[in-house]
Amino acid sequence: MSAILTFPKTQDEIVSFNPATGEEIGRAANVSAQQVQDAVEKSRLAFQTWRETRFKERAEFVMRAREIILNEIDEIARLISDESGKPVVEALSMEIAPVLDLMQYFARNAQKILKPEKINIGQLKFLGRSSKIIYQPLGVVAIISPWNYPFSIPLGEVVMALMAGNTVVLKPSELTPLVGLKIGEIFAEVDLTENVLQVLTGDGKTGAALVDAAPNKIMFTGSVATGKKIAQEAAKNLTPIVLELGGKDPMIVFKDADLEAASSAAIWGAFCNSGQSCSSVERLYVEEPVAERFTNLVVEKTQNLTQNRGSDSATDVGAMISENQLKTVENHVADFERSGAKILTGGKRNARLNGTFFEPTVISQAENSMRGMREETFGPTLPIAKFTTEQEAIELANDTDFGLTASVWTRDLAKGNRVAEKILAGTITVNEVLYTHGIAQTPWGGFKQSGYGRTHGKLGLMELVAPQHIHVNRFTVLPNAWWFGYSENGIETFRGFARHFASGSLFKTMKLAPQMLKRIKELRRK
Ligand code: NAD
Repeated sequence: MSAILTFPKTQDEIVSFNPATGEEIGRAANVSAQQVQDAVEKSRLAFQTWRETRFKERAEFVMRAREIILNEIDEIARLISDESGKPVVEALSMEIAPVLDLMQYFARNAQKILKPEKINIGQLKFLGRSSKIIYQPLGVVAIISPWNYPFSIPLGEVVMALMAGNTVVLKPSELTPLVGLKIGEIFAEVDLTENVLQVLTGDGKTGAALVDAAPNKIMFTGSVATGKKIAQEAAKNLTPIVLELGGKDPMIVFKDADLEAASSAAIWGAFCNSGQSCSSVERLYVEEPVAERFTNLVVEKTQNLTQNRGSDSATDVGAMISENQLKTVENHVADFERSGAKILTGGKRNARLNGTFFEPTVISQAENSMRGMREETFGPTLPIAKFTTEQEAIELANDTDFGLTASVWTRDLAKGNRVAEKILAGTITVNEVLYTHGIAQTPWGGFKQSGYGRTHGKLGLMELVAPQHIHVNRFTVLPNAWWFGYSENGIETFRGFARHFASGSLFKTMKLAPQMLKRIKELRRK
């Protein structure tokens, strides 16, 4: 049985290129709107049986898929690197290893996280009532994903959706279709039930058709502009969505921070994946007294980085995904220069290499009014600004439309926590940058224009189920006091309810007993 749809190749194909060399590495179908509709219908049918599977059975598929990935680890890492431009080591460290951990975590824990939950309903329980929540699968989950983490982002969401009992239609980015298809192939190899996971390659139109096909949930990761379009279209069917969008993540370095560690973290946070992470360090604020020393460390370490093709094991910084993305970086850097900031190192395309390589770039004297401090750059730039007080650092960090992640660097953990709580972003790390997307147990998601909803962790799994409340009355011999048969006596009873029962105190509620008996007798007579 096959888990992926293979469409005949037509002229309407997507060509996949290696951005480090410009060479074609393969083609995939640009799936039509009709084919998307058909796939969603098949997914709905498959859901009827998949929803009945036990957690254990789902977990076995996931763990077998995990084995396949381990067996093919080097080929998969190379494919990710070739199609996205990132170093093979980052394909392993930032995609494959974290997603393997996520797979085992949700395979082993989804049942526990989604176990039915009893709710304490207060004094109503003394009247023979009980409530519980069970978590029902939603149906067809559409996953629309970007190119920057082409393996770990969609695969993590696929696994969570399947474990929750949903079927999935995945639309990978048109820039990384082969990695998307690989995810389908992995599940085909473990004989996942037909149509439980379908991978539909294609461009934005294929994605839009998937939104129109009214899946039961959309998990979207990508740009703010596309997120807004999807939110509008999804509203037509009231399809619930999770939006994981862009960021302009700040890093605050206080004068008491470990500057060695902070400077290494800053360059990794800004330049890994060629700066194309939603949670990249895109703005750095350093406290005035250590600004010069810190900036010198950053520049020195940046100049020691090796930029080359991702396939070379000594490469630190690989190619960017496309000319378009590189042009945005060039524009932001040019704007920094025009606006009075200083380019300390980098600042241009790497002329030594043929592909879309932009040199890791450190910029000082940046200010929040500059374009590269307001819009997502999504490239290897690290603009640095100074601050003098804790309050100013918080204000500078919060002066943005985005709110995905932020980091605070200080040896004073009380201060770190205090500042963290004042920053408006979905994840704040103290003495760490960027990496928590790799922790399966923790929630991931943004504030403000960085989106809404969560992926990963318990909160992420909860996005993929419908909480259903089941309330039971074991005590039907007596009529409810609030049923019809309204009267003066009823009014008196509910005055008493308002005063006594609604206080939450059992002691006060006891005072209601005589009035309640009167009301029940009245109702029985009617
Ligand atoms: P994008 O918005 O251009 O594309 C994302 C996906 O949406 C692609 O699969 C694309 O084909 C599809 N798409 C495009 N138009 C569509 C439409 N009208 N309807 C439905 N689908 C459509 O984003 P991108 O360039 O692939 O990714 C980069 C962006 O993603 C950055 O802004 C980055 O910050 C963000 N991102 C966010 C997170 C996060 O977790 N918050 C993670 C990774 C990337």
